Amino acid sequence: MSGVSLQPFIAGLPKAELHVHHVGSASPRIVSELAARHPDAGVPSDLGDLKQFFTFRDFAHFIDVYLAVVDLVRTPEDLRLLTYEVAREMAEGQNLRYAELTCTPYTSVVRGIAIEAYTEAIEDARIAAERDFGLVLRWIYDIPGESGVPAADATLEYALRHRTDALVGFGLGGPEIGVPRAQFAEHFDRARAAGLHSVPHAGETTGPETIWESVHLLGAERIGHGVSAAQDPELLAHLAETGIVLEVCPTSNIATRAVDRIEDHPLRTFVDAGVTVTINSDDPPMFATSLNHDYEVAAGLLDLDESGVAELARSAVDASFAPDDVKARIGAEIDAYAVSARRV
Ligand SMILES: [Zn+2]
Repeated sequence: MSGVSLQPFIAGLPKAELHVHHVGSASPRIVSELAARHPDAGVPSDLGDLKQFFTFRDFAHFIDVYLAVVDLVRTPEDLRLLTYEVAREMAEGQNLRYAELTCTPYTSVVRGIAIEAYTEAIEDARIAAERDFGLVLRWIYDIPGESGVPAADATLEYALRHRTDALVGFGLGGPEIGVPRAQFAEHFDRARAAGLHSVPHAGETTGPETIWESVHLLGAERIGHGVSAAQDPELLAHLAETGIVLEVCPTSNIATRAVDRIEDHPLRTFVDAGVTVTINSDDPPMFATSLNHDYEVAAGLLDLDESGVAELARSAVDASFAPDDVKARIGAEIDAYAVSARRV
């Protein structure tokens, strides 16, 4: 490390993000707008109060905040606003050019938004965000694992029968403990047969066996988190050999206690084993982080200089499911930025 802060370099670096949740990206500013629309929800709309409400305390508090936001997204217009404003913050705040946003349509549909209206709202926001902010968005629909097979059936139906061209992946989130992967094997088979990429969360709160199951039973191409892969050298070798990518979310892992201390984070173990890693923010405002901050954390863990950080940004573009022309364009932007930063 040069000792010079990488913060300005990271802030200006064009980036792609692959593991970031739709509702989990709602900032206090966005929640304040939603809360003003639905005063009966009991969520403060005053920005100062909301910042207090958002101050991360522990995992239980994170769930409270998350559910409060879920409860504020009641109409298609709420969804459109949430999606468009999240995109604004990604582009303006984190210099993102591309993001795969993990959406959980099931939780909206059970709250009364029809899937047709859901799709229309997020698509409308996606097109506007690309036009207004130059941010290309793609969707990953994830099964809320805690809701079991009925939620998986429904999510698959939304993905196959109400598909938009912007849907690129099929995921699985929620708690891992008590939610065996095998029950979703058929859903992933059918999603993959329809051309969707398999991107389940695994090994965040459980051991390497969950990652193996996700590889073998769900056909995972990327793994959300994968923290416990570090415990299994054979698994690391397999991930490296097959090119299965880990979507690493350092700050989230500390917040949820998947990892005790940042010094103990296995990011370097992954890289040393030859596994492709990408850096992500997961639910940034709720974990008091940002993608830029997670890049700084990763740079610290890996002792990276500017060109190493640019390499991380390239990995995310390469591991994305973006159209080839978008990948080429962002890759070129990263290269040009890295070169111009070197000249300064
Ligand atoms: Zn996640």
